[in-house]
Amino acid sequence: MAYSWGIGSCTTKFKPKYAAFFNYLIHNFWLYPNYGIARQPQFVFAEKVDAMVKVHVFNRSGELVGPIDAPRAELSDEEWQRQLTPEQYQIARDKGTERAFCGTLLDNKQQGVYACICCGLPLFSSDAKFNSGTGWPSFFQPIAAENVAEERDASYGMIRTEILCARCDCHLGHVFEDGPSPMRLRYCLNSASLKFTPSTDLAALADPLAG
Ligand SMILES: [Zn+2]
Repeated sequence: MAYSWGIGSCTTKFKPKYAAFFNYLIHNFWLYPNYGIARQPQFVFAEKVDAMVKVHVFNRSGELVGPIDAPRAELSDEEWQRQLTPEQYQIARDKGTERAFCGTLLDNKQQGVYACICCGLPLFSSDAKFNSGTGWPSFFQPIAAENVAEERDASYGMIRTEILCARCDCHLGHVFEDGPSPMRLRYCLNSASLKFTPSTDLAALADPLAG
């Protein structure tokens, strides 16, 4: 049987017969017996109607600054489709999930910053990346709390907390309360929603609003 749960063209050797069920177990119970305590969204789109958001961005010196007021990135579906690959669009704009152990950034051990694939907002630092064993890139905290929004997700018969880019609503993944000490959080990411920039090149992420 093909390993059909998830999105992508990964040709992993990890192809159990009952892949979807196994994936559900590994994701929620086997490695994470504490799962079941639904994390309540900490930062909701209270001002979603606002055209501006407060976020942290990089300046031309490669330093993280802010929070600054930045306009929300709002493109039509057609515009996002032109900007993204079909896989990126399906995950980032249509709330898809890439296959476990298949993401291009899962085993990335370089120092640097993971930014939103859609709008370039910095989201996570390699300093907070850890090996969760789940098959998805995992972090214990965002690069700045304001940059990652949270929403309640009741899809697939589970209560989870979805994480999104605060500037453009890009679907990033979910956050669970079973991460390592002291934060005890596991931000479970799709590689397809992220773009990695090495720490030697952070000035490339410079936002014009940062001055
Ligand atoms: Zn974004």
